Amino acid sequence: MQVRPEGLYCAPADIYIDPHHPVDRAIITHGHADHARSGHGEVFATPETLAIMRTRYYLKDETAETGLPYGQRVDLGNGVTLWFASAGHILGSAQAVLEYDGSRVVAAGDYKRHPDPSCVSFEVVPCDVFITEATFALPVFQHPPLEIEVEKLLRSLKTLPHRTHIVGVYALGKCQRVMKTLRLAGYEEPFYLHGALKKLTQLYESYGQDFGEWIMVSDIPRADKHVFQGKIVLCPPAQINDRWSRRFEDPLPTVASGWMQIRARARQKRAEMALVVSDHADWGDLIRTCEETGAKDIWITHGRVEALQYALKKRGINAKALNMIGRDESVE
Ligand SMILES: [Zn+2]
Repeated sequence: MQVRPEGLYCAPADIYIDPHHPVDRAIITHGHADHARSGHGEVFATPETLAIMRTRYYLKDETAETGLPYGQRVDLGNGVTLWFASAGHILGSAQAVLEYDGSRVVAAGDYKRHPDPSCVSFEVVPCDVFITEATFALPVFQHPPLEIEVEKLLRSLKTLPHRTHIVGVYALGKCQRVMKTLRLAGYEEPFYLHGALKKLTQLYESYGQDFGEWIMVSDIPRADKHVFQGKIVLCPPAQINDRWSRRFEDPLPTVASGWMQIRARARQKRAEMALVVSDHADWGDLIRTCEETGAKDIWITHGRVEALQYALKKRGINAKALNMIGRDESVE
């Protein structure tokens, strides 16, 4: 394995993992824009990730696609075998497991260990080298259970029934996880969605997810503002305070993100309510996962690299920084 300007590279199979630039052969761990770029000649991914990439126009007609369900192996040539294990990050998210000459490397991509009813849970794969992210690798990051954050929102709806609760969520993963968790918490009212969230929510539904009733905000006549009172409106984070949100009476801007644990970030977004909802592993889970894989070597791709490296070394685990660029921390 090498780090090249295009990204992480597996030399014997001549293939990149989540490359930043168009390449001939790419393994894509999941559909977020900073991992799934467009323009590759050949793409290996889970069927769900390929569907997400198609929905977002990341695949060209001439792109050769190989869809691999979790656990299914493929021979990449020159003695390299690839299979995917679930990463628990979003629908279809996977760890790329590469086996070559009796050794196993796992590139985890983005992952989390907290339960998520909208995707398959993380699977620990014993390996020799574990390649991890470190987005939230500081001891201060301890993500609360999502049920507690959702309870905050439900309590607010009860206390402030005249206000429209506008929740900023990323279109891929966060939106569906929040909706599903609210349903499991017993919320039965329809959700109102911004147009940017429609296609991916439908895609999740085509893979068997059930979000109950949801209605496009644009389908409600402008004059019927009262419809939204005491209800949940979901939109991309940038929209909670912009022109779009002015159509609602007495809106209560809320952001759901892992970064909401940092008060300054919540203020920056001008959110009145902050829900700590992260799709990444927190500090404790990063260390636990590195330990559970049994890997002798940990490679850290991006994020709070030094902090994780230090913590692992203290535990007697070799850890090195790959200093990779091109990952967007805001897409979480
Ligand atoms: Zn991601």
